[in-house]
Amino acid sequence: MFVMRYVFEPPPISSAAVLGGGEFPVRRIFCIGKNYADHVKEMGGDPKSDPPVFFTKPADAIVGTGTVIPYPQATANFHYEGELVVALKAGGRDIKTPEDAAALIFGQACGCDLTRRDLQAAAKKAGAPWDTAKGFDNSAAVGLIARIEDFPPPLFADARICLAVNGVEKQNAALGGMIWSAPEIIMALSRLFELKAGDLIFTGTPEGVGPLVNGDRVEVMIGPLPPLEFAIG
Ligand code: MN
Repeated sequence: MFVMRYVFEPPPISSAAVLGGGEFPVRRIFCIGKNYADHVKEMGGDPKSDPPVFFTKPADAIVGTGTVIPYPQATANFHYEGELVVALKAGGRDIKTPEDAAALIFGQACGCDLTRRDLQAAAKKAGAPWDTAKGFDNSAAVGLIARIEDFPPPLFADARICLAVNGVEKQNAALGGMIWSAPEIIMALSRLFELKAGDLIFTGTPEGVGPLVNGDRVEVMIGPLPPLEFAIG
């Protein structure tokens, strides 16, 4: 006789496809805000005085490349934020050095932190949490994850992070413009959370964020990484 442990069928494990094959099982999605000086300025902040802001998205907010994302509920100002995504193969707490942090990285991908900007503005004004603005369904678009050994970090020293909507460039910045590098973000997060294999980190967006409407096609490109492409509709 089949005896089910759970009172109903558990949801499937969220995952992101890996370049060359296989699925990266997603445990948690961490995101950093305010990580490019010019974007901090366009949002009205001072890059030198603001400490990093972290927020999260649920693991099942993941959507892959080549998908059509429905225009979300409850917003009239739905924004793209092109970002480098870092995937962890191991974790820990209180990671002390950038070298130890870098050794935890499984791979990297092009990503898009989709945002209900009107809800974020209301939350900021009210001093309220960002969950409804950032952690909604299909809000974490991720391209194929490239293993770190295939595209090691030195390749990214001069890389650009670019986002286009309907073929028109909207974001184009030096990846080196990050205020906090990926290893520094991992170190900072590890002082707040025990990181583990399966964690994804969205490392922040440069200047040029803007709205999306039904029918838009979005492309995110970072150096040699496989591009992320999706449509809204
Ligand atoms: Mn972001």
